[in-house]
Amino acid sequence: MAKITRDMTIAQILNMDMATAQIFMESGMHCVGCPSSSGESLEQACAVHGLEIDPLMKKLNDHFTTEEIDMKKYECTVCGYVYDPAEGDPDNGVAAGTAWEAVPAEWVCPLCGAEKDMFEAV
Ligand SMILES: [Zn+2]
Repeated sequence: MAKITRDMTIAQILNMDMATAQIFMESGMHCVGCPSSSGESLEQACAVHGLEIDPLMKKLNDHFTTEEIDMKKYECTVCGYVYDPAEGDPDNGVAAGTAWEAVPAEWVCPLCGAEKDMFEAV
């Protein structure tokens, strides 16, 4: 399932997973951290950097496909709440299908308010 589309901005893709910065760099896009490039769509950024968009999109999508296989559940060590990536936590802004790694760092346990580092893989 392709998740990355050519009209997504660099910032959006980086927000999904900071590890994609590595893919951008390997592909020759060395200024992924600069504000002007992060606001560009993937297509615009490729045009600016003279890169082919299709191989880059394939790499990015391969990256996210690999991640999707690793959809482990995480349990709150404080209260026992289990985060299931298939369900996410829509009430708190985490869409269904969000891998644990992609859950925002500021997300907390919806039952007891524990932070992400209080969770363990189950
Ligand atoms: Zn909890």
